[in-house]
Amino acid sequence: MIDIQKIRNDFPILQKTVYGKPLIYLDNTATTQTPSAVVDDIVHSYYNAKANVHRGTFHMAQMATEAMEATRRRVAQLINAPSASDIIFTRGTTESINLVASSYGQLIPDGSEIILTVMEHHANIVPWQLLRTRKHITIKVVPIHADGTLDLDTYRSLFSERTALVAVTHVSNVLGTVNPVKDIIETAHAHGVPVLVDGAQAIAHMRVDVQQLDADFYAFSSHKMYGPSGIGVLYGRQSLLEKMPPYQGGGEMIAHVSFEKTTFADLPYKFEAGTPDFVDIAALHTAIDYMDSIGVENINAHEQELLRYATVRMLEIPGMRIFGTAPGKEAIISFLIGNAHHFDTGTLLDKLGVAVRTGHHCAQPLMAALGIEGCVRASFAVYNTRDEVDKFIEAIYRILPLIQ
Ligand code: PMP
Repeated sequence: MIDIQKIRNDFPILQKTVYGKPLIYLDNTATTQTPSAVVDDIVHSYYNAKANVHRGTFHMAQMATEAMEATRRRVAQLINAPSASDIIFTRGTTESINLVASSYGQLIPDGSEIILTVMEHHANIVPWQLLRTRKHITIKVVPIHADGTLDLDTYRSLFSERTALVAVTHVSNVLGTVNPVKDIIETAHAHGVPVLVDGAQAIAHMRVDVQQLDADFYAFSSHKMYGPSGIGVLYGRQSLLEKMPPYQGGGEMIAHVSFEKTTFADLPYKFEAGTPDFVDIAALHTAIDYMDSIGVENINAHEQELLRYATVRMLEIPGMRIFGTAPGKEAIISFLIGNAHHFDTGTLLDKLGVAVRTGHHCAQPLMAALGIEGCVRASFAVYNTRDEVDKFIEAIYRILPLIQ
């Protein structure tokens, strides 16, 4: 059992009030809050170790470099990557996927096909469409069943000798569906096709093992795992990363530069042009330690309990429609009430201190498949409580007469 009150004390922001009401933060899918240990770590770096990495020979520069490289090793350990040099720091999941689309994309021959799913976040759709403006490629889309699970029969039928890549989310940021990525990867590999997994919604809620999954690329963001904003990770299979051309040019990513010819640095630096966000990268280490000190299995069990409780209580509300009912889904509840506009529901809940997300959740093709323009989303993290679920439900009952 985890001590939620103790955990809540680690997040001072949770003591805030909004419009005079205690904040009930249920937008954890968009970003999780940050524990004091991580904020302290950032402050510590600014006061004690602010020196550019990989450049200085002086003591403080070495400290900063070591802190960043220690995070790289810690990330590799977290996801069981074979080597720390398979870990590339980026600005977030979005940049990680863009890196693969623009660099690996250059290795994809004209006439290729890429398989996506209808539940992808725009971050795993638009980079492939941008590639389509540069190369002659076709995008094929895996549909979903009514409960929000992927139609795997159709998935298997989409492969051809032209399939070059599969890019799939581990967990849907709207439906909460946990996709069977290991099976998806096995199917793709049987066709000799590599797979990119968007792990943005998985990394803070389950144990991720890239070797066990046999993933070729795995992308995630620090700000969704109790870490600082502005940084992310791309794991890549070394044999693929080695073949891939650099993503951006600049300092750090070179071996030698002359106006005639430039040679590039070894992995992972080939993909890290310019000064990285070394302060936040160093603090990601603390965030991972924090998550590990609670245990991701314990985090998941707690969130699942909140999900079960909230779902039962929400389904008692007249006119409630929940999108995504896949078995084993994550603690994300997307919903609409009667004919109420999602924006009105969200705005009124906010006035009662409840922070939920409204809109298309950067998944417009999924909204189209569901036949809606948008919905309201409540999502849980380790620090949420049953009492908060009660207050959230109470708030919905209070606004019901106003939205119906
Ligand atoms: N993929 C998924 C599934 C997401 O939920 C998100 C964030 N909502 C992203 C990608 C993009 O993450 P970021 O904005 O941190 O790059």
